[in-house]
Amino acid sequence: MVTKKNLIFLGAPGAGKGTASSALTEREPLAHISTGDILRAEIKNGTELGKSAAVLMEKGGLVPDDLVAGMVKSRLRQPDCDNGFILDGFPRTVNQANLLDQALKEIGRKIDAVIYFEVDDEILLQRLTARISCGKCGRIYNKLFLPPKQENICDDCNTALFQRPDDSRETAEERLKVFYKNTQPLIDYYRERKLLTSITEIERDKMLAALFRELT
Ligand code: ADP
Ligand code: ZN
Repeated sequence: MVTKKNLIFLGAPGAGKGTASSALTEREPLAHISTGDILRAEIKNGTELGKSAAVLMEKGGLVPDDLVAGMVKSRLRQPDCDNGFILDGFPRTVNQANLLDQALKEIGRKIDAVIYFEVDDEILLQRLTARISCGKCGRIYNKLFLPPKQENICDDCNTALFQRPDDSRETAEERLKVFYKNTQPLIDYYRERKLLTSITEIERDKMLAALFRELT
């Protein structure tokens, strides 16, 4: 059975899309599709795709639309997406949104809701530059707001935590600029299609849970 829980998490870098995705997929059988994670895995594996993406990612720029859309398209065909999925960090441009629409049409699916994570710029920058994550299990921490129990060690798997190279102050600022220029237009794009729900940080977990129940 194909369900109606096909979601897009939209928001600036550091808005908490990844953290909310992890929380939701812990409870629900949704596939978590993070284009950033897929790209970082390609870099780690030293693939050609990874090599060309790395240069752009280091500078805080976007990887070409066709490339990321192709990755998502093949990912959506995997069986774990049949129960629903969260697209985290994709689409990031209006062109990517159009490519996504095409890809979904081909497999007879559609997006049921787009959740926009609203956060102030200053908070985003503070968060990005203090973000650390586990390279083994992917859990995300924050030195200021969500520290691990033991400094720099993952609570879940005891692995040393690392800072993403693109979370330096300079690159983080560039990524925010790229967000406002390329991704922000998607807010109107999905609002016009009556798919957008905006959520603030206050009561975020409650709002997400309520929204999810509505889709059931
Ligand atoms: P964040 O949401 O914290 O910015 P991501 O892990 O989603 O981080 O993305 C990291 C980087 O990967 C981006 O800055 C960009 O270079 C690249 N990337 C991820 N998703 C996309 C996408 N949909 N289109 C283009 N580039 C992407
Ligand atoms: Zn871990």
